[in-house]
Amino acid sequence: MVAKQIRARGISDTRVLEAMEEIPRHLFVDEALLNQAYADNPLPIGERQTISQPYIVALMTESLELTGYDKVLEIGTGSGYQTAILSRLADRVVSVERIASLSSKARKILDRLKCYNVLTVVGDGTFGWKDEAPYDAIIVTAGAPEIPKAYLDQLAVGGRLVIPVGGSNSQNLMKVTRRSGEKDDLEYEELGGCRFVSLIGEHGWKG
Ligand code: SAH
Repeated sequence: MVAKQIRARGISDTRVLEAMEEIPRHLFVDEALLNQAYADNPLPIGERQTISQPYIVALMTESLELTGYDKVLEIGTGSGYQTAILSRLADRVVSVERIASLSSKARKILDRLKCYNVLTVVGDGTFGWKDEAPYDAIIVTAGAPEIPKAYLDQLAVGGRLVIPVGGSNSQNLMKVTRRSGEKDDLEYEELGGCRFVSLIGEHGWKG
């Protein structure tokens, strides 16, 4: 998976590649889909949600430019697969999920993999998670109609936000970097087209 789908498509951050080699993706996939766990596409994880395609996980993770010392906020725990990758690359991860059953299932696997630097919480992640702000990196793994303001407010100086923005069927993967402490000193970059399930909540799509 890592050689053919990820390295071959231009992901070169060795820490990201190593983390993706280490975390067993099949643990996050239903037994009935085990034979597809390492395939080049997203897979259903129940509750009409999906675990992202491996390449997209790699692209988003690399874009966060993690050093090992960062505090990361993730919105959309889902299966917990992306969370586990972040756990290996960051100092601390706060992961918010709106569906309690997905969050508790993910927590069990994260414990099994000894991802003890991850706090999993249930709630509406369109508010971010103020308690531990600011964050060096914020990753949103559900598609938003526009960027919720809370994410920009909770981004540290020098911090990176990666979020799919657009319609409910397809989005553009956006990267936003906070250049200074001044209010709107933000740099926007487009990373390409993508297709995520919807970010549902007060500052997202209405469920
Ligand atoms: N990163 C996940 C992908 C999960 S799919 C993985 O690797 O498996 C997106 C997830 O975002 C879904 O589980 C969905 O329930 C969740 N989600 C959608 N809107 C949300 C919100 N407002 N707050 C928190 N989680 C949300």
